[in-house]
Amino acid sequence: MLHTFRFLLLTVIIGSLFLNTLCDFSEKRQDFTFFNSPETKNLIYFDNAATTQKPHIVIQSLVDFYEHYCANIHRGDYELSRHATEQFEQARIKVARFVNAQKEEIIFTKGSTDGINFIASTWAMTELKDGDEILVTELEHNSNILPWLQVSKKTGAVVKIIPVLPQGELDMKELEHLLTTKTKLVALTHCSNAIGMVTDLSDIIARAHAKGARVLIDAAQSAPCRMVDVQELNPDFLVFSGHKLCGPTGIGVLYIKKELTGTLIPYQWGGGMVDIVHDFEHVELNDVPEKFEAGTPAIAQAIALGAAIDYVSTLDKELIKNHLANLCSRMIDGLENIGHVRILGSTEQLKKNGHVVSFIVENLPTEIVSKYLDQHGICVRTNKHCAHLLAHRLGYDSSIRASFYIYNTIEEVDLFINTLREFMNTQYAALAGQVKRTSIDRAHHLWGDVS
Ligand code: PMP
Repeated sequence: MLHTFRFLLLTVIIGSLFLNTLCDFSEKRQDFTFFNSPETKNLIYFDNAATTQKPHIVIQSLVDFYEHYCANIHRGDYELSRHATEQFEQARIKVARFVNAQKEEIIFTKGSTDGINFIASTWAMTELKDGDEILVTELEHNSNILPWLQVSKKTGAVVKIIPVLPQGELDMKELEHLLTTKTKLVALTHCSNAIGMVTDLSDIIARAHAKGARVLIDAAQSAPCRMVDVQELNPDFLVFSGHKLCGPTGIGVLYIKKELTGTLIPYQWGGGMVDIVHDFEHVELNDVPEKFEAGTPAIAQAIALGAAIDYVSTLDKELIKNHLANLCSRMIDGLENIGHVRILGSTEQLKKNGHVVSFIVENLPTEIVSKYLDQHGICVRTNKHCAHLLAHRLGYDSSIRASFYIYNTIEEVDLFINTLREFMNTQYAALAGQVKRTSIDRAHHLWGDVS
């Protein structure tokens, strides 16, 4: 009896684990015009790290605003404006819930880049001085490096870089050396857009705080794909973009920890932020978040971001993560069976929690491969993916990046692999010799085996 019970229990546990790992969201494709309209329905869209497609309800939400309640917010003394304001503020509440923040900690921006520039132009410009240090990593998107270089020029603070190991993990020993009491900010990405490696943040954030540094997390790639909980992670600032999360372009999110919002000076100045004007020079500002949102914000986009968050939140984040990892796993297995292909990053990690597979075809410029894929209806990104430091470190000029989101399927991955295999079988031998010095040669030179 006990044996039978144990057996049943085991079957249920294994069954649910299996279901978890084999989750399939293909029915979600019905929710996207893109996957159902004649011009685009046969495309394999693997450029989701750049931007995702938008479901009907998000597009409809934009249309609804413009058709039915288009009015400016926070200022109109009439029903239409009150309704628009309510929808806009509801979107803020949805965003706050999405990352487990309070609504006063959520500032609408244009995107991740804008959010990082906000902190660079405000907190960093006032808090940092000559000799202070800012730590970034080699995994960063240029949007999380260039603003800090500007801060460095203007304040004298020094930007230091945590290197990565050959498989794209951060070099934690170097972090140990680089993180000192001089460090005033650690600005790092949760997940690399170029090679998909995920960084375990909790420990780094705790260590940074122990040294008295603030932490900014670039969650542009992670917020759409995995749980991002600001209470659990405890960053001081965190940014992400709406358009990588089924939302529209032109809208993003900056989370600022509540204890810091009082001391921060605004990023921009203008209408919408003013409470009382005593005289020309004495102005009282509204409370946060309006204080930080001068001018007319992207009202329709913010509301549509709320709709995107509603949409994505109907899916379990753990299942999304598993689904994307399954696609990576299938892609990696397929690529490993094709000769002359080198995958960047740790395949072991990507199979567990990736959403991006980035690779190089030996002796061949990536554009030749992507052009072939494009001719076969497959959309991928090539080049350095705005992560030049990483490309230099890992020694590649350009990689081919396939990045997935919820609506992608195992069948699409198989088609991708078959198309690439066909290319390699029919064209590779003739084309490969044309390239003399390869990116892979350099990768070997720097790191030994980069795969
Ligand atoms: N950081 C990362 C990790 C990204 O992937 C991107 C977009 N590719 C950005 C920052 C910049 O995002 P946006 O262009 O939406 O501002």
